[in-house]
Amino acid sequence: MAQETITLTIEKQKKIALIAHDNKKEELIQWCDRNQDILKKHFLCGTGTTARLITERTSLPVKGYNSGPLGGDQQIGAKIVEGQVDFLIFFSDPLTAQPHDPDVKALLRIAQVYDIPIANNMATADFMIHSSLMDQTYDHEVMNFKKNVENRVNEF
Ligand code: PGA
Repeated sequence: MAQETITLTIEKQKKIALIAHDNKKEELIQWCDRNQDILKKHFLCGTGTTARLITERTSLPVKGYNSGPLGGDQQIGAKIVEGQVDFLIFFSDPLTAQPHDPDVKALLRIAQVYDIPIANNMATADFMIHSSLMDQTYDHEVMNFKKNVENRVNEF
């Protein structure tokens, strides 16, 4: 019988998504600059504006998706579902209303569902990036989504 959970592996080389709201962009660029030696060992992607700014202001290559308010957060959420993003640095702005707040919530929710490490502020990002787990593979249990669909179909 199929298991309720499956083991997924976050590889040594992480697939990191970088996102910052406008008032937090400078902070994230500085953080990336300070942590270049670590970040350059991993795959980096991000929402459009954030990705471009980090690429231009540091020597780190960051693959850009659409701008956040135009669907970039949703694209990154989809990459989490597909296993193409397994680490999220998202400097959100707690003091400014965002037009794409539902997308932000959806991204944070799906990151929780897939047990993805998430940093919402610089202190958390610092603790995460300096964790010894950054240089190791990490196995974690997530819901078996095939089994979940089977169970649900059988309910109808
Ligand atoms: P941006 O999007 O990097 O294109 O500005 C970030 C966001 O606001 O979600």
